[in-house]
Amino acid sequence: MNNDCIFCKIAKGEIPSYKVYEDENTFVFLDIANDFYGHTLVIPKKHVKSIVEADEKTMLNVFKTVQLISNHYIKNCGFSGVNIVNNCGESAGQTVMHFHIHIFPRKENDLGEVGWKQENISELKLDDLIKQLKYTKM
Ligand code: 5GP
Ligand code: ZN
Repeated sequence: MNNDCIFCKIAKGEIPSYKVYEDENTFVFLDIANDFYGHTLVIPKKHVKSIVEADEKTMLNVFKTVQLISNHYIKNCGFSGVNIVNNCGESAGQTVMHFHIHIFPRKENDLGEVGWKQENISELKLDDLIKQLKYTKM
């Protein structure tokens, strides 16, 4: 628990939220932004700043719940797909520094668009890019 963290307070019920689901390790609630129909957040109850700082158990707990709720939305709630998004770090748009996964439930021909914009990169640039991004396990 981080006393300055709104998502810790939401997980503890100290700040009200529209709860979708809760288990021992995770909490799922509607995003307050009301910007996208069904916009949902999945958080670990444990305070972890971001996905890159999450331990293995927290990752497993969060993604098990992401899968559970995605299945629920598709099987029981009238949706046919989901976009699953994580913003990690301020440059990526993370505004609440408590690890969370966004679920955007989707329907055919809905008005939503969850995407990203950047310049087109050519094959030549991929040659350079792979040198920068290739990962070899130590
Ligand atoms: P981020 O930009 O960090 O990936 O996402 C943070 C999300 O948390 C935003 O979509 C924002 O609308 C949502 N949010 C911020 N404060 C609250 C709150 O007090 N309650 C709820 N339900 N959502 C919040
Ligand atoms: Zn927190």
